[in-house]
Amino acid sequence: MTNYKPGIDYAKAQDQKDPLAHYREKFYIPKNTNGDEWLYFTGNSLGLQPKETKNHIQQELDDWANLGVEGHFEAKNPWMPYHEFLTKTMAEIVGAKPIEVVIMNTLTTNLHLLMVSFYQPTKTKYKIVIESDAFPSDRYAVETQLQFHGFDPSESLVEWTPRNGETLLNIEDLESILETQGDEIAMLLIGGVNYYTGQYLDLKRIAELGHQQGCKVGIDLAHGVGNIQPNLHESGVDFAAWCTYKYMNSGPGSLGGIFVHERYANDTSLKRFAGWWSQNKATRFDMRQPLDITPGAEGWQLSNPPILSMAAIKASLELFNEVGMPALREKSIKLTGYMEYLILELQNENISIITPKDPEQRGCQLSIQVKNANKSLHTKLTAAYVITDWRTPDVIRCAPTPFYNSFEDVYKMVEILKTILNA
Ligand SMILES: *Cc1c(COP(=O)(O)O)cnc(C)c1O
Repeated sequence: MTNYKPGIDYAKAQDQKDPLAHYREKFYIPKNTNGDEWLYFTGNSLGLQPKETKNHIQQELDDWANLGVEGHFEAKNPWMPYHEFLTKTMAEIVGAKPIEVVIMNTLTTNLHLLMVSFYQPTKTKYKIVIESDAFPSDRYAVETQLQFHGFDPSESLVEWTPRNGETLLNIEDLESILETQGDEIAMLLIGGVNYYTGQYLDLKRIAELGHQQGCKVGIDLAHGVGNIQPNLHESGVDFAAWCTYKYMNSGPGSLGGIFVHERYANDTSLKRFAGWWSQNKATRFDMRQPLDITPGAEGWQLSNPPILSMAAIKASLELFNEVGMPALREKSIKLTGYMEYLILELQNENISIITPKDPEQRGCQLSIQVKNANKSLHTKLTAAYVITDWRTPDVIRCAPTPFYNSFEDVYKMVEILKTILNA
C-alpha cells in the first residue's frame, strides 16, 4: 500500500518522480478560454487525442492523393494488410495471441457478429446471462439476438444482479444462477469492467463457471481495454469485443477490436456471417473462389476496413507499445488510489465511492455515488472545468488515466470538489 499524504506538495512530488509524466505532453489537453487546461477525467468515455494522430492520418491522405488505388500496395503503410500492423500491440494489450485478435467494425456490430457464431441456442439451452447493470447497447444486442432466434427476452434473458442493498456483483451469485439454470443457459455476455460501478470481474472464474455448464462465454472489454490487463488467452473466455475510443485514445467512433480464443482458430464448423475479408488471403482476389475462411480472428472480418480510422489507432498503439501495460497499470493503481484517499479524507456524507476498494477488482475509474441523486454537484464540477460524467440514477464517474492525468490533476479536482461540497 502506498502511504498517500495530503497537500499539493505531495502531488507535485509524485509527478516529479512519475516515469510516465512526460507522456502528458504527447496529448492535446483541452483548455478553457483563459488558456487553463481542463481537469479531464473522462478518458473512460472519449480518450484524448495523441498529437501524433494527425501525422498518421495525414500520411494516409497523402498516399491516397499521390497513389490512388495503388496505395493498397504502394503506400508507406500498404492499405491491403494495414489491419495487420495493429494486431501485435493490440493482442499484447489484452493478453492474447496475435491469431486471436483483429481490429474491425465497431463494438456493438462486433458483438452481433460474434453472437452469430457463439450464440447457437437449442430449444432447451437458449438463455443468455448479462449483468443487471449492463451497458444499454449490450442489453439491446442480446435482447434482439434472443428475439431473432424466436425467444422472448422477458423469459430468456437472465440478469446477474447485486444483492439487496448492494451495488457490486458477487461471483457466488453467478455460480448459483449457473447451478440452477445452467442446463438452459447457452451464453454469458459480461462486461469485464462494469461501466457504471467500475468493478473489474474475475474473467477466468467466469469462464470456468460458464464452461462447466457448457455455456459460451463472451466479455465486453469496452471499459477494460487499455485500463486493466485482462489476460484474455489465459482466462479461457471464448470471445471478447471492445472499442478503441475510450482508454485506447483512437478518436470518436473509432473501430473496435475482437478476440476469439485460439481453440476456434481453425474451427470452420462455427456459423458466421462472412464477406470477402473473411476469405483466405491467398485467394481473396481470385474473385471466383468458394469461401475459404482465413484462420483466427481475422476470419470474422467482412469488409476492407477504413484506413483513416486505423491510422488513428496505429498512432495510439505506438504509444501503448512504447510504455507497455504493466507500467501504465502500475501508475494507474497509484493515481486512482490517490484520488480515493483524497475523497475519503473529505469525510463528506453526501458522497460515497461504490467502486471496489481492492485495486485488483477495479481499473482506474472511481464511481462516486451522490446522495439524493443530486446532479448539481456534477453540473458545478463541469462549470469549474472538471470534466467527469454523470450516469443516472446517481453516479459521477471519474477516470484518472495514467497516460495523461497527473497527481496534481487529481489533487486540484478534489480541492474543487471540496469547495463545492462545502459551499
Ligand atoms: C462504450 C460502450 C459501448 C458502445 O458501443 P458502440 O457500438 O461502440 O457504440 C457498448 N458497450 C459497452 C459496455 C460500452 O462501455
